[in-house]
Amino acid sequence: MLDLLVVNATLPDGRQNMSVAVRDGKIVEVAEGLHAPAQEVLDAQGQLLSPPFVDAHFHMDATLSYGLPRVNQSGTLLEGIALWGELKPLLTQEALMDRAVTYCDWAVAKGLLAIRTHVDVCDPRLMAVEALLEVKKQVAPYIELQLVAFPQDGVLRGSQGPQQHMDNLTRALDMGVDVVGGIPHFERTMADGASSVRLLCEVAAERGLQVDMHCDESDDPMSRHVETLAFETRRLGLQGRVTGSHLTSMHSMDNYYVSKLLPLMAEAQMHVVANPLINITLQGRHDTYPKRRGMTRVPELMAAGVNVAFGHDCVMDPWYSLGSADMLEVAHMGLHVAQMTSQAAMRQCFDAITVNPARILGLPGYGLAVGCNADFVLLQARDPVEALRLRANRLKVFRRGRLLAWSEPAQSTLCIAGRPGKTLLQP
Ligand SMILES: [Zn+2]
Repeated sequence: MLDLLVVNATLPDGRQNMSVAVRDGKIVEVAEGLHAPAQEVLDAQGQLLSPPFVDAHFHMDATLSYGLPRVNQSGTLLEGIALWGELKPLLTQEALMDRAVTYCDWAVAKGLLAIRTHVDVCDPRLMAVEALLEVKKQVAPYIELQLVAFPQDGVLRGSQGPQQHMDNLTRALDMGVDVVGGIPHFERTMADGASSVRLLCEVAAERGLQVDMHCDESDDPMSRHVETLAFETRRLGLQGRVTGSHLTSMHSMDNYYVSKLLPLMAEAQMHVVANPLINITLQGRHDTYPKRRGMTRVPELMAAGVNVAFGHDCVMDPWYSLGSADMLEVAHMGLHVAQMTSQAAMRQCFDAITVNPARILGLPGYGLAVGCNADFVLLQARDPVEALRLRANRLKVFRRGRLLAWSEPAQSTLCIAGRPGKTLLQP
């Protein structure tokens, strides 16, 4: 007897009338038209069954703090960092945990079941680290959190000095933070930025950890720390374990240099996270017109064989006042900014919020195949492109075969003579 059998589902790869059989929290069979005895049978009615959404780049210590202690007037990255500096001394562990757990509720409702979040490690008390480690434990039954030790003020530039900042970072890792972060473009000089990349990659290599740096989140085409990151990845044998987040300076680099850079990144098996909602609003702020978009070169990186994900980065915090844990909204923006409008490219954008970030986090048992965890989302859409177009309603969200969230089908009632009474916004 199965615990759950989903029938008549469409899968992201286009297969239709598919059944997915679940026992003991695992997928035990995936086959066309399969019927078998089950405790519960769910008729997907031809809708899209997707593995859950994954966000490879977020800041859960800052989320839902919009307006505290004031709003970002200029809307720039640098005012956001300054504002975060004003907010930090006012944070309490309890309030921070409350906001993070509330965000996890939103995430589950949107079928987002794994999040890599950076956590600021510049406060020597490591209060945010303690809070998010506790949240990670608390939400573990329904959402997977991975933490990155993020020295927001710069590990060499921060006001407490390099020794103290490295000490804070390594203590955070000792406490159970998973990944080594960094912010080389924010260090005082290009040379300091490069040193920070080397030092932090060495820490990761010594401890057998992954690296995920905020790297070159700048409009300066000479901000080339990604080159150093690729170099250190190879030197230290970290291939496949290093992620460059943002990489917005690549948008402004000249094409000749990028033609050298892309193969270096592919050779180092680097992963990349672009954050389209945030970078389309934060980058190009010093431009008049023409105004740069600032998102890194997503289709070109993908074509070079680099694994690229779209991240949410911020929701209602000092950098961004909008957002709702909706990864389809993130991919929708990424698709537009990167002009990825072919059918194949739109499907790549769907991958960039599902399978690609799952690879970055190294999630075991992710996917809709036999032996995988029974984690999936039934969307009110017939394929990945329609899911993106509609930022589709999440009808059901399952984890380990257990229903975590559901919503009524979305439809509007029309009151127009001679027209149908309802519309689902589908042709
Ligand atoms: Zn970030």
